[in-house]
Amino acid sequence: MKKNLILVLNCGSSSLKFSLIRPENGETLLSGLAERLLSEQASIKIKVRGQKNHRALPRPFDHQTAIMTLVETLALQQLNLQIFAIGHRVVHGGEHYCMPTLVTEEVKNTINNLSQLAPLHNPANLIGINAAEAVFNDVPQVAVFDTAFHQTMPEKAYIYGIPYSLYQEHGIRRYGFHGTSHYFVAQQAAKILDKAINKSNFISAHLGNGCSVTAIKNGESVDTSLGLTPLEGVMMGTRSGDVDPGIIFHLINQLGYTAAQVSHLLHKESGLLGVSGLSNDCREIEESWLTNKNPRAKLALDIFCYRVAKSIASFTASLTSIDALIFTGGIGENSTLIRAGIIGQLSLLNFFVANDKNQACCFGKAGNINTDISRPILVIPTNEEWVIAEQTSQLLSNNTSIKE
Ligand code: ADP
Repeated sequence: MKKNLILVLNCGSSSLKFSLIRPENGETLLSGLAERLLSEQASIKIKVRGQKNHRALPRPFDHQTAIMTLVETLALQQLNLQIFAIGHRVVHGGEHYCMPTLVTEEVKNTINNLSQLAPLHNPANLIGINAAEAVFNDVPQVAVFDTAFHQTMPEKAYIYGIPYSLYQEHGIRRYGFHGTSHYFVAQQAAKILDKAINKSNFISAHLGNGCSVTAIKNGESVDTSLGLTPLEGVMMGTRSGDVDPGIIFHLINQLGYTAAQVSHLLHKESGLLGVSGLSNDCREIEESWLTNKNPRAKLALDIFCYRVAKSIASFTASLTSIDALIFTGGIGENSTLIRAGIIGQLSLLNFFVANDKNQACCFGKAGNINTDISRPILVIPTNEEWVIAEQTSQLLSNNTSIKE
């Protein structure tokens, strides 16, 4: 049986997203999500050939059990023997990894050491790698890093205005995230515009629960809004984005917050949720504004659009020309209101939205949404799983020692 499928795993501390992908064309043969792992409520949803199956997970409710349950379904569908390799999304690769990397003990140690910079993500990613190794013992595993695409940023973009020794001794610098998504939409945009990627210049806005804006020059990331951690930059679903760092000291020194409470406030209670007081979900906030004229919902949407527009405008400092502005992520791909709100504040840069085209680009439909006099504005659904599958497959095809 031909081994040509890649299993893509994206492991969180209590969740595991998975997709089985044909790397040549991005076809998804199976996908799903295990949630509430490590609790009695652990469950797994698997979608295969259009059929969805949702069931409870047996004990011990962990990531390995989820992968074993997935393997049972793969075996029933006779797909397990076609798996060529496993591609893992790993959030933080620090300065060590600017390319997809075959997982070895040394690589796992480095990912573990980088947990200092991504305490919520890297340990979970390692759990996924170890669980997959235990279940698929001889299948090669590849780590694809969220930070890798941004390793081309120049020093002036990634060094903070704080003592340089903090960078030298502790690696405190801007790394950026969502790299796989920004890479994918840039590649797609170059194809749509029929330009060579190494001659293409874009600003891409990945707007989902997490949000980031990236300046792409000659196909490479030259600046991005997320920093050392995924808290910097534009306002997000529950994350604040940029705030005056003085607020942190005010909360601690004047209002008696602990460091852990400040962290929780900025990561989990801020952003669209914190301002609206309603939800982190953009659809619910839009609904509350459009049907009930809730002023706090409107304020949350206004702040969101204004901050993304300011971030896009600021990245023109990194570029000498722009071939297109790109929207992606759950909000970027679907919210006509947010896209129009952002573009409406970018007329000085010659971006103008065409309302009919804006309405037409939703629910997975790609296309341009600009008027005839505007610079190009593209909506491109992201597909990080396909990039991980493609890069995993390419790395292993180039690696002769594995082919033998
Ligand atoms: P994540 O960062 O978790 O991958 P997504 O990229 O799936 O998140 O984006 C989730 C966000 O997209 C949510 O705020 C959700 O409300 C928003 N969203 C999805 N569909 C729509 C829609 N039709 N209109 C407005 N917002 C939408």
